Amino acid sequence: MSLILSGLPSTEVTILQTLHQNLIAALRKASNEMKLAANGQTTQSTGFSQTWFGDVSPNWLRALAKDLSKSASLINVMPIKIHAAPLSERVDAYACSLIKRKEDQEYARKNNPLTIAKGKHFEIELHKKWFKAPVFRTPNNPDSRFQTLMHEISHIFLCTKDQPSSEGVDTCKLLAQFLSPVAKTNADNWGYFVEEFR
Ligand SMILES: [Zn+2]
Repeated sequence: MSLILSGLPSTEVTILQTLHQNLIAALRKASNEMKLAANGQTTQSTGFSQTWFGDVSPNWLRALAKDLSKSASLINVMPIKIHAAPLSERVDAYACSLIKRKEDQEYARKNNPLTIAKGKHFEIELHKKWFKAPVFRTPNNPDSRFQTLMHEISHIFLCTKDQPSSEGVDTCKLLAQFLSPVAKTNADNWGYFVEEFR
């Protein structure tokens, strides 16, 4: 267990522990399926890469499979602190990831992140919308806590960004269609993509 949860109600702790396991499983499943797709065995899930990243070339699928499996391993072993933002500081957002030190931000880009994992400080702060979001996406609401957690995890371990005006399902699909390289670095696209594999 690598989540360090503090100051959260017990229902929230249970939800986060479930999400943690679900996220690792979804990332591993996605990685395996993207690996198969890269080797020419296209399945229904290959389409998810088209929808959210606008690319199904073998090179991209291979890189994607690697990033997904790296994220699963890192979430499994790295300590990630999660806490609710103090009430007075809570903003109208889902969550934000706080990366305290520059070197912790840079390390995820290196080739051997697992071996240099010790002593890093990763933190996710939960805000107003988190507490109103469904745990998993629903037909009416794709912005789930699962999606949010993956969004933040992608900032931490894959160095994704919040591209300007790039939040929400519709915008993310347009990004994938017309600006694939931007979609690939946009945290929301990663969140929606990974939830497809839950
Ligand atoms: Zn973000």
